[in-house]
Amino acid sequence: MKQSLLFIPTLREMPKEAEAISHKILLKGGYIKQNAAGVYTYLPLGYRVIKKIENIIREELDNIGCSELLMPALQLKDLWVESGRWDNYGKELMRLKDRHDRDFCLGPTHEEVITSIVRDTVTSYKKLPIALYQIQTKFRDEFRPRFGLMRGREFIMKDLYTFSTTQEDLDEWYLKVRGAYQNILNRLELNYRIVRADSGNIGGKSSEEFMILCDIGEDTIVYSDSSDFASNTELYDLKDGDPSPDGIGTIKTAKGIEAGHIFKLGAKYSEPMKAMFIDKDGKQKPIIMGCYGIGISRLLMAVLEQHYKGDKAVWPKEIRPFDVHILPLDKEGTPNYQVALDLCDKLKKKGYDVLFDDRSESPGVKFKDADLIGIKNRVIVGRKASDGIIEFEDLENNNNEEITIEKLLEMEF
Ligand code: ATP
Ligand code: MG
Repeated sequence: MKQSLLFIPTLREMPKEAEAISHKILLKGGYIKQNAAGVYTYLPLGYRVIKKIENIIREELDNIGCSELLMPALQLKDLWVESGRWDNYGKELMRLKDRHDRDFCLGPTHEEVITSIVRDTVTSYKKLPIALYQIQTKFRDEFRPRFGLMRGREFIMKDLYTFSTTQEDLDEWYLKVRGAYQNILNRLELNYRIVRADSGNIGGKSSEEFMILCDIGEDTIVYSDSSDFASNTELYDLKDGDPSPDGIGTIKTAKGIEAGHIFKLGAKYSEPMKAMFIDKDGKQKPIIMGCYGIGISRLLMAVLEQHYKGDKAVWPKEIRPFDVHILPLDKEGTPNYQVALDLCDKLKKKGYDVLFDDRSESPGVKFKDADLIGIKNRVIVGRKASDGIIEFEDLENNNNEEITIEKLLEMEF
């Protein structure tokens, strides 16, 4: 990809609104742009990373038998009255009227819509279980939008809903999804804990949160240093150094960002909304549901918050916007520029995503922008290119060496 064709509006000055380092890096690097409090544009570079995160999620969910659909963001009030949430959801719900004075909301979550779809189409145990998910924009009028994408008023979420005939089947789905979430967060190279949690506005009996450990997190979690025990502090009164309640290890506390939340809903929506099925025994029963969310735009920042180096974005391998960034220092038309172009072609043939700085800018400007963008593997094609030597920089490991083009082409990125 030619850099001149990719819209990367990097900033030299730091916007005042940014508090978190990941937020600063995303704004300065031309990854995102704020449009209003808690409302952002994902610029081409940021959107490339978002799409890579989405695809990891798709792969892992498709792998356990879920199917993707896309529901409307615009939702009728009537459904929310049926579930009882029109009055309970509070001010976070973005409400609006159409020209005929009918009430709608912009979906903060989709239990009502998905339950209405399934109740209209599934009547027998023979059609169950099913697991349906979407990747979609959600709206919540948060009291205090914060830290850029961490707490937005418009944000991208993956929401999955499972429909089972029995509690046992729900338990199985819950574990499968839990495993898929672990795979997703592992592929994103995140340090996280799974904690038991309060079910909040969505409800249901039991739920767990996937907490990314990081200092700007809004939640405090307690966890054992030697076992899987971890919990939200809302549920336990524990402090650093206490023995872990499961008898294994000592308690530590940490700040966490909630990246995902999984719930066993049971019949919380199917009962009031009458999503019923006829079971093998001929009896009519409510469908047993589970729901599972991951904040995708929140992850864009949370991943960076754990991965930045100095003031540079260094993304986990699977979601780098590009694998290699090539900076030719000589002008277009020179032999050295041609060497850079040939190298770019060869890397592309090997299957790598390459960003090629074809702009007629000074080396100083190219370096500055490359630092702001922060692609891990950087190749500088300078004076020695005619001798087959380039400079290779690894931002993650802070390495900088002169190597031959042959050697570079043998490397794995
Ligand atoms: P929080 O406690 O942070 O408000 P929540 O419990 O309201 O989160 P859920 O309703 O479970 O969140 O939504 C599923 C996921 O969507 C969350 O785990 C989080 O990653 C993401 N999410 C929720 N609210 C926001 C928001 N305002 N901005 C960005 N992502 C969000
Ligand atoms: Mg919330």
